Amino acid sequence: MDEKLAIYGGTPVRSVKLPGPYPGASVYGKEEADAVTEVVMRKSPFRYYGVDVAGKARDFEKMFRERHARRHALACSSGTAALILGLIAVGVQPGDKVIVPANSFYATAGAVTMVGAVPIFCDIDHSMNIDPEALDRLIDPLVKAVVVVPILGNPCRMDALTAVCKKHGVFLIEDAAQSCGSSFRGKLSGTFGDVGTFSLQLNKIISSGEGGILIMDDDSYFERAARFHDQGSFREKSRLPELKDRPNQYLIGQNYRMSEVAAAIACEQLKKIDFIISRMRELKSRIKGAIRPELEEKGVEFRTIIDEAGDASSTIMMYFPSPEKAEAFHDALIAENVFCSHLYDRKPIYAAPSLLGQISAYQNRFPFSQLTGKDRVEYHMGMCPVAEDLLSRNVMIPLAPAFTDSDAEDIIRAVRKVANVILAE
Ligand SMILES: *Cc1c(COP(=O)(O)O)cnc(C)c1O
Repeated sequence: MDEKLAIYGGTPVRSVKLPGPYPGASVYGKEEADAVTEVVMRKSPFRYYGVDVAGKARDFEKMFRERHARRHALACSSGTAALILGLIAVGVQPGDKVIVPANSFYATAGAVTMVGAVPIFCDIDHSMNIDPEALDRLIDPLVKAVVVVPILGNPCRMDALTAVCKKHGVFLIEDAAQSCGSSFRGKLSGTFGDVGTFSLQLNKIISSGEGGILIMDDDSYFERAARFHDQGSFREKSRLPELKDRPNQYLIGQNYRMSEVAAAIACEQLKKIDFIISRMRELKSRIKGAIRPELEEKGVEFRTIIDEAGDASSTIMMYFPSPEKAEAFHDALIAENVFCSHLYDRKPIYAAPSLLGQISAYQNRFPFSQLTGKDRVEYHMGMCPVAEDLLSRNVMIPLAPAFTDSDAEDIIRAVRKVANVILAE
């Protein structure tokens, strides 16, 4: 006989809730604490000057660019800042279009509007990432760049995507905010395009609370990004000695700098990234392996993983037979004290009222007002039917390296218990 579900008054599988799924922060310890203490005791929280600067931001950049085998890395204040800097770096301008996937965090589209370009939404495929064939059909002469997003650890089809971008002569930016450490055929996400960007916000694979970083090979992109992120200055002249005679204020910039406190944590997190991912892989293969056969038999699909060996494995993502089943399963699993959620409220990003209504911070609706007449862009539901369908039926179980083997057993037991009832009804 089926056990009575907690949502119907039965005893939950777990008496206490699973800890938060924040991968990087879940393994914070003495290393991060000591690094922050060092910055505080040196009284030097600013990267470019102070009493006794430890050089944490510079160290983080060095570790990051060496790990990714790219010439340049620039630490910054957030993943959103990294995207804005990446778009500035390659020279995206007002009047340009930039293609982004229909399934991403708002920041991907928001950053595009911040540099004056108009985001165009491309449909996804069963992997939840941008569909290379849909992308090929969507590129027109106004498109200057494409931002691809490996969602929740799943790498993108970078062979097909780089080919499409090359064919049309558009820049390729990888927003790897959620997938630092994932790879496609052995090459790390963020290293395929012109620029790769990452976030260190709490939900991400490594975290310093807030923070971001972007990587690239091209010297002139690096100079533009570095200047824009620091009020026009290019302070570390040794990074590009040929620039030594160029004046400091050579481009009007903003402040997107990373603090030494965030950088101190980021360095320690980067040292742990291989452990974080290998532990999540272990947990994912164990949990997914255990629940997959019976869930598939009951009509649940597991999203396509583009490259199993390169999956950062931060999430188990499933599509239920209907939106109602997805919701019922989600609510019942939560009642068992096992955490799960619906990605992005089960909607593509353009469903957000701000994007759907093109409500920007500017009175004349800039940047949307840049494209007029036959070039005018409008959004409507139904634009990306695959994204709308898959997202409407999604339930995800996020993982963290701090989960114990017994936590993994609880997840398996709770999923089976809930599936037996909810998917039988
Ligand atoms: C988190 C995230 C961002 C933004 O990062 P922040 O550090 O929060 O600014 C951008 N893109 C994607 C895909 C993200 O998941």
